[in-house]
Amino acid sequence: MTCRAYIGLGANLGADLGATLTQAALQLAALPGTQVVALSSLWRSAPVEATGPDFVNAVVALDTGLAPLDLLDALQAIEQAHGRERPYRNAPRTLDLDLLLYGDVVLDTPRLTLPHPRLGERAFVLRPLLEIEPALIGLATGQGWQAQRIERLGPLSL
Ligand code: ADP
Ligand code: MG
Repeated sequence: MTCRAYIGLGANLGADLGATLTQAALQLAALPGTQVVALSSLWRSAPVEATGPDFVNAVVALDTGLAPLDLLDALQAIEQAHGRERPYRNAPRTLDLDLLLYGDVVLDTPRLTLPHPRLGERAFVLRPLLEIEPALIGLATGQGWQAQRIERLGPLSL
């Protein structure tokens, strides 16, 4: 049994943000029982409720046999491997991996909320997610995200 999961990738600290996201996508592809089924483009976005330089963002779709919390553990291990520190809320980050959707699972626990709580109001999630799966447009809440600054940089290729 596998489940379709969507991972949001973001980085705004480091010399080559596109290379960081490419490497992270390769690490996702190497997770046990997991296959990458779709990649968005790389996008450059202005920080939202965050400080520091522009972000580079992407979304990766996976088919995975990992349970939601095991997948979250794996995402956090990959963040750690990229030197992620959490000095304060919304600090600049070398790599952020968010579990956006896990099938149609709805969950609200201290460690994991599904769907990701701010998914529907962030252009840096919605633009790459809708690029892969336009049918998910119903997840967008309101119109505000359409005014957030974001531009397509080019393909994410593994
Ligand atoms: P953010 O991504 O909101 O900027 P962090 O990456 O530091 O912040 O995550 C903070 C906490 O959010 C993590 O410790 C994690 O347990 C929790 N969390 C809850 N739901 C999710 C989710 N769907 N994906 C990723 N992390 C989540
Ligand atoms: Mg995160």
